[in-house]
Amino acid sequence: MKKVIVFDMDDTLYDEFEFVKSGFRAVSTFLNEQFGIIESESYQWMWNRLQKQGRGAIFDDLLKEYGLYKKTLAKKCVSIYRLHKPTIQLPNETIEVLKQLENFPLYLVTDGNKIVQNNKVQALELEKYMNKCFITYRYGLKHSKPSPHCFQLIAKQEKVEPEHIVYIGDNPSKDFVGIKPLGFRTIRIMTGQHVNKQLPEEFEADIRIQYISELPNALKKLWPEIEV
Ligand SMILES: [Mg+2]
Repeated sequence: MKKVIVFDMDDTLYDEFEFVKSGFRAVSTFLNEQFGIIESESYQWMWNRLQKQGRGAIFDDLLKEYGLYKKTLAKKCVSIYRLHKPTIQLPNETIEVLKQLENFPLYLVTDGNKIVQNNKVQALELEKYMNKCFITYRYGLKHSKPSPHCFQLIAKQEKVEPEHIVYIGDNPSKDFVGIKPLGFRTIRIMTGQHVNKQLPEEFEADIRIQYISELPNALKKLWPEIEV
């Protein structure tokens, strides 16, 4: 029986912090061009602030730090961050695994702003590997994870039952809880910002792995009959 492998993008296929850094660089360049602020200085300020307090209102605070705060300018920084063409790439270990799995139908299901997520898909060249990349927000907000909507579209397209489809994701809050009751199989990769999240059983994946390089073995555990 055919098996289908579906991936989450952020913090599963690559480290989302790489995107954040890329966005900060774009904002730093803009502030340098407009106001002559040294790029490495504003970049470092944002990075330190991120470590201490997370992402919320970071551009507001940055502009206040330089005495430049205006609501419109803060909005401009957000849009530069969101719309910039990110300089991110897939880590080698991800590329190796995707190549190793090239005989399976591969898909991507990712949540998030349509333009931002599409820019990431392009920068990571994911269409090279995936049969199709589903950006859930394109189907309406109500079809974002944990909704099983896009996963059901994949099942329909591939004409397989959910038990022959596996989703690999990193966020137990939403990656698995909506699809498990339908019979989809699930693998959690213990990387990124959700690595320490401990949630009740219904949110957890069938299998946990530490690194993406462990994926082929995990797939064999799930489906002993397959050849990877
Ligand atoms: Mg993720």
